[in-house]
Amino acid sequence: MIYADNAATTKMSESAIHTMTTLLNESWGNPSSLYLHGQKAKEVLEKAREEIAAVIGAQPREITFTSGGSEADNQAILSAAESGRLKGKRHIISTAFEHHAVLHTLNKLKKQGFDITLLDVHENGIILPSEVKEAIREDTCLVTIMYANNEIGTIQPIREIGAICRERNVLFHTDAVQAIGHIPVNVGEDNIDMLSSSAHKFHGPKGVGFLYSRKGIRLSNLIEGGAQERGKRAGTENVPGIGAMAAALKEANANMAENAAHMIQMRDKLIEGLRQIPHSALNGDEHQRLPGNVNFCFEGIEGESLLLLLDDKGIQASSGSACTSGSLDPSHVLLAIGRVHDVAHGSLRLSIGEDITQAEVDEIIRSVTEVVTYLRSFSPIWRDLMAGKKEFIL
Ligand SMILES: *Cc1c(COP(=O)(O)O)cnc(C)c1O
Repeated sequence: MIYADNAATTKMSESAIHTMTTLLNESWGNPSSLYLHGQKAKEVLEKAREEIAAVIGAQPREITFTSGGSEADNQAILSAAESGRLKGKRHIISTAFEHHAVLHTLNKLKKQGFDITLLDVHENGIILPSEVKEAIREDTCLVTIMYANNEIGTIQPIREIGAICRERNVLFHTDAVQAIGHIPVNVGEDNIDMLSSSAHKFHGPKGVGFLYSRKGIRLSNLIEGGAQERGKRAGTENVPGIGAMAAALKEANANMAENAAHMIQMRDKLIEGLRQIPHSALNGDEHQRLPGNVNFCFEGIEGESLLLLLDDKGIQASSGSACTSGSLDPSHVLLAIGRVHDVAHGSLRLSIGEDITQAEVDEIIRSVTEVVTYLRSFSPIWRDLMAGKKEFIL
């Protein structure tokens, strides 16, 4: 079996599992309790906060633990909107290819009277800082742009965008769920005010993540209750999950350069191999992309069928489309970079892991080529394309 869906979730690392089981056994106290057992759990929590802060260049008190990336995105955006509302600023800038945790939160704000500008994404899947600059208005309270896209893997010019926001005195949030643990991120150097991250995307457990918010930024609570997390996120903390998240992040960070070098090599071989399939195209910039991301469109086929047949061959991947609800809508990300519906339907996202081998890359190329050829052999669209009744786009 080859697991090539690491952008959806990753397998927990051995050290994260070890940390988590040890904490489940030994540190099950409530961190808010004053007796020794509670205080030991509190120590675990604060050590994790220090370790995570150190990895991204933050202060420990700037880290708020959450239930994952979605919660962190919601809290960051709603907090900035609340601060904006108080100052009469109701304009937010984002992009058309954000994660739904961002897009749906922005939709909610739109219904409450906020004006949302979604910047166009270029064909290469990269936002131009100059377009962010032009979009900023007197009443802009937030710019939220993802660090790296979860479908096509493109890495955004975050440092430049952050510098523009700082110059204009506008809060800048980035959904860095796909970036943290995979590429270097430093909130200071990158001019980031708020950042979302999720443990299960870097070999930590699911259901735990964190929000970085620069000192002085007002956070609003999504969850009311006790005074945990400096009063900004009520609820007894997920101590084993948070400890395991810190262990996974430390490990990912320590091995980052070595892992990335290997994955980039494997990624580029995969891209080279899949390009040999006629009427195919890579989605997103070839170089400015995550080390583990490959995303292709193949004309004349449906991504869903491709996935099912690859699964039969032991390869687990994703179509990159948001078909969680079983809808057949093509991916909003592929539409945002200008792929037409028919082409966007035939997409494949392979997000490889750190331990991928050359033999596995060869097997993926062989299997995808076989399956695409097979599906095209009875595709009515392909028949029309071949008969010249329809024009090839790719
Ligand atoms: C996975 C993901 C999320 C959601 O994180 P969860 O921890 O699953 O809630 C948000 N943004 C991006 C870019 C993601 O890839």
